[in-house]
Amino acid sequence: MDGNYAFVGLGAMGFAMAGNIRKKMSSKSTLYIYDVHRPSCERFVSEYNGAGPIEISQSVKDAASDSKVVISIVPTADNVRQVYLDQQSGLIAAPADADRLILECSTIDSASTRKVGEALRSSGHGHYVDSPVSGGVPAAEAGTLSFMIGSKGPSEEDTAEIMAARINDVLVMMGQPKKFFWCGKLGAGLAAKISNNYISCTFLLVIAEAMAMGIRNGIEPKLLQDVIHNSSGQSFMGDHVNPVPGVVPHAPSSNNWRLGFKTQMMIKDIGLGVDAAKQVGIQPTMAEAAIEVWKKAAEDPRCVDRDGSSIWLHINDIRDE
Ligand code: NAD
Repeated sequence: MDGNYAFVGLGAMGFAMAGNIRKKMSSKSTLYIYDVHRPSCERFVSEYNGAGPIEISQSVKDAASDSKVVISIVPTADNVRQVYLDQQSGLIAAPADADRLILECSTIDSASTRKVGEALRSSGHGHYVDSPVSGGVPAAEAGTLSFMIGSKGPSEEDTAEIMAARINDVLVMMGQPKKFFWCGKLGAGLAAKISNNYISCTFLLVIAEAMAMGIRNGIEPKLLQDVIHNSSGQSFMGDHVNPVPGVVPHAPSSNNWRLGFKTQMMIKDIGLGVDAAKQVGIQPTMAEAAIEVWKKAAEDPRCVDRDGSSIWLHINDIRDE
């Protein structure tokens, strides 16, 4: 899609996603970038300078003012509210442009995204879509992310197809169309994402405990993973984020726990699952048990700011790392 783009949040995910946008958008258009951590912006410029114009903005307002597309990926719902609704520095302070497409990719609760999206749509600041992602940093780097999209407002049946085509044109720069899931109304993308993460955050702990148990019972780690991979315990998390160092060469555990998805953020995501389940009358038994362990890991110096698979060090009480 032609025109300038703004990208907000250049963290583990956003840095690679914005890099793919810069490489694939028109080389004549400008990519405005903004992150509260300015060194991330400077590192981005030095890495992608050759791909086309990049401007570091002083605020989201500045980044969005002359942009037809705005993409954001920041940690929490509070951060999303600040990015969009801050009266001085947020997108809401930029000139109105109802044609602006806004893709919000963070993992937050559906109610918060609906409130932000409705505020922006009703003030004429753009068409806000929740489009959380899955696949982690490797898929962000490879441009093969999956997206769960919540787009439709109550009176948008007639424009839905045009809007879907515009959304698709942008997402295809960061992800794989066969993994774009059109979930329905605003907030529905996040409802799907939260269900998925209920599983992945719980699984990672389950895998760590099961692998530790098997290894302590004398099974060689790679053989144990091979057994599980070819049996009913097989999972994406076991195959790609296996917490046992050396078992899966590309996993964070085999690469000094490189991020990845921070241990502290596990609490956020699993907490979103606990709340979402309770809101619809489902008792989140598994997540409530898992979150207690994640809370301890999030305060364990062996796990803080490392990939969540470092839970391995915590549950095995490994002290010499
Ligand atoms: P991160 O902490 O690595 O990066 C977040 C970035 O946002 C940081 O650079 C931070 O400085 C910036 N930021 C925070 N508040 C901001 C604000 N108000 N304005 C501008 N920038 C701001 O986090 P991440 O791992 O990239 O995750 C981001 C989101 O994506 C989270 O909601 C997470 O749950 C979700 N997610 C992460 C992964 C993953 O594997 N890391 C996978 C899928 C989804």
